[in-house]
Amino acid sequence: MVFQKEKNNSPKHMIPIAKPYLTEEEAQAAYDTILTGWITQGPKVQEFEEKFAKYTGAKYAVAVSNCTTALHLSMIVAGIGTGDEVICPSMSYIATANAIKYVGATPVFAEVKPETYNLDPVDTEKRITDRTKAILIVHQIGMPGNIDAFQELCEKYNLKLIEDAACAVGSVYKNKKIGAHSELVCFSFHPRKVISTGDGGMITTNREDYYKRLRLLRQHGMSINDRVRHEASKIIFEDHVEVGYNYRMTDIQAAVGIKQLEKLDWIVAERRKIAAAYHEAFKDIDFISLPLESEGNYSNYQSFCVYLRKNCPVERNTLMQELLDKGIATRRGIMTSHRETAYRKFQENTSLPISEDLQDNSIILPLYVPMGREEVTYVIDTFLGMLTPKALVL
Ligand SMILES: *Cc1c(COP(=O)(O)O)cnc(C)c1O
Repeated sequence: MVFQKEKNNSPKHMIPIAKPYLTEEEAQAAYDTILTGWITQGPKVQEFEEKFAKYTGAKYAVAVSNCTTALHLSMIVAGIGTGDEVICPSMSYIATANAIKYVGATPVFAEVKPETYNLDPVDTEKRITDRTKAILIVHQIGMPGNIDAFQELCEKYNLKLIEDAACAVGSVYKNKKIGAHSELVCFSFHPRKVISTGDGGMITTNREDYYKRLRLLRQHGMSINDRVRHEASKIIFEDHVEVGYNYRMTDIQAAVGIKQLEKLDWIVAERRKIAAAYHEAFKDIDFISLPLESEGNYSNYQSFCVYLRKNCPVERNTLMQELLDKGIATRRGIMTSHRETAYRKFQENTSLPISEDLQDNSIILPLYVPMGREEVTYVIDTFLGMLTPKALVL
């Protein structure tokens, strides 16, 4: 079997911001699955779930169509509904806040800490009210958030904790993989994340009751799944025990996911090498700040975000354009949901100066696997060249 090589549609010598690491192995797995005749949720989904649970150390894993649906179902099983408030960062992909809206609850945005781009426990506590039911933390750009601090808050105020780990597959908190620290952890396999199934999501949990309900909800609330019915030797009839959804992952995606999972630790190690090269190259520049890891807590470097301080000689957008002109794709800092049109009208009084400043003055640099030494050096040299005041260049 010969597969077509990946096509590169970007202009010649263009360094992309990200690129999924997919090989002929993943293509073969999808091909083989298609020929089995079982293509939607079935044996491959089950195998992927079992392997994912094992990888993260969680008791159970439930595969779904994407991380947004993972978050939606987590809100439901956590009992969040109309009139409730859920505290989350505004600085996140908009799906974080949307999942709260889907169940009729209100997202209450709190500030992040500039060193990690993650929710600030102190600011979060200030925003807790009688209506607060949960805290939705985000391990932004793969940087693990302070789970312990939020677990303490949740215990103190009797709240649910949900982790949006869309970016954090393979990241480590207190020397353990993200996924087994709390009751509901949601992952994404979108191509912009560290491993991909095209689209796809996973929820890990240690609670059997959550596990059972999540499996019902993702498939129309059906008491018996297709596979059990298919394999039964006696006729059986299903019941739809509650109003559910179609949030299934397909077996084709799961087959790809199994191959991706096998490569995950290697992919993370490669990403960390590139991040280390960036850290080394930029560490002495006093007008930029880099994301900070702490002992035992390690990022998968889903993104490498550089913050430009006030004394930076070049304005952010100028820098992005100049890099693009030199064939280097970048992105602006992580979005803030409260400044998007869908939320702005409800958030007129929201002031999140730290999040806004981070969004406006940071820049995401290319980081993907495999990114050759030459590309990494080119990005570093070009970036440094632009930041160095021209007068100092001989
Ligand atoms: C990507 C992302 C999501 C959404 O994931 P999908 O799989 O695309 O639904 C949610 N939250 C965060 C923080 C993300 O980065």
